[in-house]
Amino acid sequence: MSSASSPEEIININSQEVLISRGQINQRVEELGRQISADYQGRELHLVGVLNGAFIFLADLVRQLSIPCQICFLQASSYKDKKVSSGEVTLMHNLDLSGKDVMVVEDIVDTGLTLKYILEDLQQQKPTSIEICALLSKNIPDKIPVEVKYVGFEIEDRFVVGYGLDYAEKYREVPHIACLD
Ligand code: 5GP
Repeated sequence: MSSASSPEEIININSQEVLISRGQINQRVEELGRQISADYQGRELHLVGVLNGAFIFLADLVRQLSIPCQICFLQASSYKDKKVSSGEVTLMHNLDLSGKDVMVVEDIVDTGLTLKYILEDLQQQKPTSIEICALLSKNIPDKIPVEVKYVGFEIEDRFVVGYGLDYAEKYREVPHIACLD
């Protein structure tokens, strides 16, 4: 996966390549909101945001929905200040999703490992349905097969930050998606 550098390294984020602009994100989030609203017409949707990375995407997405929804969060971590996954996923939540239409909202799908863990965990609660919406999906070989029904953008295997995504807890506030490698 993407090359690593030290989290202490000082990076001028404004000189990094903009992969996806704020305008492109806005337009795509609107489209996703319209599509999800049409697909869930007449139902209430329970959105589960994956912390911390999905907080901005989820906040923008729910404001594009025209169906009733409830919002909750779970915490997942596997990167621990690095640019490559540790391979171990830890989940924290106290959700009750039994009998509910659930949508997991994730910032980015890389190997698919995090979503595999999340789906296996949440399926045990016997939701009526469960789908995934991810802002970004990396185009990498040997991805774990997890069906992501709603994808904002397919991207190459680059390490990206901004719009909620961090590197060692930095750059989440950047309004666009920037490349850090
Ligand atoms: P996966 O388990 O699919 O390999 O990784 C998913 C998680 O890893 C995401 O929720 C995100 O936290 C983190 N991640 C994967 N790729 C990137 C990336 O390019 N940039 C950032 N900031 N996080 C990433």
